[in-house]
Amino acid sequence: TVRTRFAPSPTGFLHIGGARTALFSWAYARKHHGQFVLRIEDTDVARSTPEAVQAILDGMNWLGLEWDEGPFYQMQRMNRYKEVIQKLLDEGKAYYCYCSKEELDALREQQMQEGRKPRYDGRWRPEPGKVLPAVPADIPPVVRFKNPLTGNVVWDDLVKGQISIANEELDDLIIARADGTPTYNFCVVVDDWDMGITQVIRGDDHVNNTPRQINLLQALDATIPQYAHLSMILGDDGQKLSKRHGAVSVMQYHEDGYLPEAVLNYLSRLGWSHGDDEVFSMAQFCTWFDLDHITPSAAQFNTEKLNWLNAHYIKQADLDYLAQDIAGRLASAGVAVNDRVDLQAVISLYRDRANTLNQLADSVAYFYQKPQLDAVALEKHVTPEILPVLNGLSGVLEQVDWTQEGLHAAIETAVTSNALKFPKIAMPLRVMLTGGAQSPSIDAVMFLLGKEESLARMQAVLQ
Ligand code: GLU
Repeated sequence: TVRTRFAPSPTGFLHIGGARTALFSWAYARKHHGQFVLRIEDTDVARSTPEAVQAILDGMNWLGLEWDEGPFYQMQRMNRYKEVIQKLLDEGKAYYCYCSKEELDALREQQMQEGRKPRYDGRWRPEPGKVLPAVPADIPPVVRFKNPLTGNVVWDDLVKGQISIANEELDDLIIARADGTPTYNFCVVVDDWDMGITQVIRGDDHVNNTPRQINLLQALDATIPQYAHLSMILGDDGQKLSKRHGAVSVMQYHEDGYLPEAVLNYLSRLGWSHGDDEVFSMAQFCTWFDLDHITPSAAQFNTEKLNWLNAHYIKQADLDYLAQDIAGRLASAGVAVNDRVDLQAVISLYRDRANTLNQLADSVAYFYQKPQLDAVALEKHVTPEILPVLNGLSGVLEQVDWTQEGLHAAIETAVTSNALKFPKIAMPLRVMLTGGAQSPSIDAVMFLLGKEESLARMQAVLQ
């Protein structure tokens, strides 16, 4: 059965590239009714933090990328790595190397001078008939893997096609440091083996590790998984995606007002396609997803597309969910939602106009706190000529039946009896009630804002 994994290093937040890798690994497992494993690669103790682990888990949870096993932590598997290192030593597939740092530096120096690529020369590699140097007393050894000397490592990358690397290019990898701790590539290999990973889907920054990992797996008599190396993600401007481009952390998208459905839908099309289909659910994605339709070239981020998808999902979102979310965003902005104005109704009025939840929250804030009046709009629309009409209307509104129809009729009457065009009255009302010149139909706004508050806001300007 299919088993995939996502193996982040907890040295920062879950970024967009990592999230896409996780999404593709997750979807591949779902499509094939297999399992998706989460593994935290935390052996870089200087750079790994518990906060970063939490940030990754938060990001995965927010996106709904549920893992079937794990999270496994490499730091908790040290004994297992040491056991496998010992096994390789016992089987003569790895050996101790007592080179000092000075010795290796000298070797490197010499090779560079001779115009050769620096490379460990195998001086401690045992071979039949070879006499090894005398073991120095004061140097704790590293353990090196006996990489094959000849032949090629070949694999059919599921994204990049066949890749072949000559073993001559690879030297004897250090698998345990002098203090006994296992090195990165080694831990990955033992984990992929122990966890029965069948497809390794990861960023192509790891493509150089793959031949080394395959050689190690072979030495362990492990089944070699298939590999799919995803190309990187570029920013809107075609440059490598970085903080410069705005949000790169998944949870930053959450903060900026994106729905997980939109981010997922967007990421799923970042380097993968299914004909012209642009908008689809994750359930649909999991039935469609395959590795054949991943583009080997770099994918370019397109914020406009993401915004378009987000707007789409905001229109579709469950109202209860939206109301809760928007109330939270308003609260963070210091605006307390109250029962006087029906938040769900207000959201319904505005949801079709918002690209993000933050925009939506911003646009409805005036229902719950007095708006800052836009001075330019005020001067433009609340003109001396219209003041008497607005005063008259305000008096009428005191008596009117406070329904959207009643309000509409009252405004219509003021318009026709003064021989005006509708905006002549609607625009100043907008400015007085909402602070600016843009809003949905003004009778709908007034109805939701309520009689008392609407009249108070009018009076504040008119008197
Ligand atoms: N821990 C690696 C990273 O975060 C991924 C290793 C792998 O997928 O093999 O880049």
